[in-house]
Amino acid sequence: MIGLLIAIILYKAFNWWGFLVTFPWIGFSISVGGFLRVVLKGRKRLIGRKVSLLLILPCLLFFVPIVNNENFQLEGVFLIVLVGFFSKGFIHYAIAKLFGPLIWRRGFCGHACWTAAILDWLPIKNCDNSVPRSYRNIRYITFFLSLLIPLFLVIVLSYNPWTDYINKHEMKWMFISNGVYYLIGIPLAFILSDKRAFCKYVCPVSVVMLPATSIGRIKIKPNIDKECIACNVCNKNCPMGVDVMGYMISNKAIVDTECILCSDCKNVCPTNKIR
Ligand code: SF4
Ligand code: SF4
Repeated sequence: MIGLLIAIILYKAFNWWGFLVTFPWIGFSISVGGFLRVVLKGRKRLIGRKVSLLLILPCLLFFVPIVNNENFQLEGVFLIVLVGFFSKGFIHYAIAKLFGPLIWRRGFCGHACWTAAILDWLPIKNCDNSVPRSYRNIRYITFFLSLLIPLFLVIVLSYNPWTDYINKHEMKWMFISNGVYYLIGIPLAFILSDKRAFCKYVCPVSVVMLPATSIGRIKIKPNIDKECIACNVCNKNCPMGVDVMGYMISNKAIVDTECILCSDCKNVCPTNKIR
């Protein structure tokens, strides 16, 4: 119902029929995942969110870019914004990554990212979080590279996106850029025994989300009436290496900007301490 409501608002605002497909489909996919979390037991409940991600993938990676003939990757969006072309790619970024996180923080990473939709299904059992957290600053390098490449093309090489790129070569760059993400993300996950290694150390999109996420509304919270038995199961299952147990023991909401609201910690907690 929320998906349908967002679809109608955006359809009225931007007059594009695709919103009436995209947002109800995202809502449906998340509902399927939620249903699986209710009917499945134990760790099997973690499958629910992964199913949602997989259902959303064709919608965001194929339907929306192909119908619009647009590149929705960060560098592609920056390239068109650079020359003043504010199209669907910009709307996507504004909703999902710039302003949306004021409400759902990094929920996009946990529930809608098409790169993570593949990474989360990799056959890697536990989340190895032994790499020092400071290594996550590498993402700032990839972020600046994503901005510098379009700037270099336009300013130094006099590349004209209006004649050479927009609605001509966007799709090609979308799939090349995505292919690069998978080519880095999948081996890195196996090398570091960490499905979300790409999200932590490489993904430039997470950098875009950080300012709004730091003041975002929706948070994972402790259930004050329940007890934490310090079993550490939540920490072991957190794909982003958040110290969930620390927050729960001190009865505080999780404000760590690495939290992707995946609810995996909540689904494995034996005492229902996490809500
Ligand atoms: S703290 Fe919980 S909701 Fe946040 S990323 Fe970790 S497991 Fe997911
Ligand atoms: S899984 Fe639940 S009980 Fe165990 S440490 Fe985490 S919050 Fe505490």
